[in-house]
Amino acid sequence: MAYMDISQVTYRVADQGTNILTEVSFSVEKNDFLTLAGPSGGGKSTILKIMAGLISPTSGTTLFQGADISTMDPALYRRRVSYCFQQPVLFGETVKDNLSFPFEIRKEKFDPVRAESFLSRVDLPASYMDKKISQLSGGEKQRMALIRNLLFPPQVLLLDEVTTGLDEASKGIVHQLIDSVKKDGVTIVQVTHDAQELEEAGRIIHIVEGRVEE
Ligand code: ADP
Ligand code: MG
Repeated sequence: MAYMDISQVTYRVADQGTNILTEVSFSVEKNDFLTLAGPSGGGKSTILKIMAGLISPTSGTTLFQGADISTMDPALYRRRVSYCFQQPVLFGETVKDNLSFPFEIRKEKFDPVRAESFLSRVDLPASYMDKKISQLSGGEKQRMALIRNLLFPPQVLLLDEVTTGLDEASKGIVHQLIDSVKKDGVTIVQVTHDAQELEEAGRIIHIVEGRVEE
């Protein structure tokens, strides 16, 4: 039994004749750094969303540590397996509104020291806590969205093209963060088109037209 088992996953939406995913199977071992690659529209984001429990497959299963994720409490599962969107989803008005959210859902008191230490890990000063979301650059928004997912480290981190469109400086900072998260023992599955990331990737699974390409 692998850490995560994606088994015979097919995904179809009602108004479309063709499958978005067809019998996709692969496994993820603990401490893996797995890369999903392939052409745009191939189904990579759909796979990550299924692994994150955000959508349910038409057929097939995802097992996490041997348990079918469809039988697990969704809120608890999402704390263990965390999905970072291709386009960061931010809310509220300020950086603090976003960084306090992970504490709120766990009914914990906001810890500003912890939040500031994570800001510094992505090269953002503590003064950013009160900064308005609307004043952040694209790279700063993505960096903040990432640390929001990491304030309470998950067991598995699903990264959906989180460096796409970032300037080189932001990209470097994000790579450093991902490296340190990996060293902390978090299992990572990433989707990327980035040439450098593909070159440095270990195991790559190619997804083409909704299937794993052998
Ligand atoms: P990738 O991330 O590899 O670019 P996606 O997983 O985003 O691919 O999408 C795969 C295909 O499925 C695309 O053609 C997309 O338009 C389609 N698709 C994804 N989700 C839905 C949905 N809820 N309804 C209809 N089509 C969808
Ligand atoms: Mg995608």
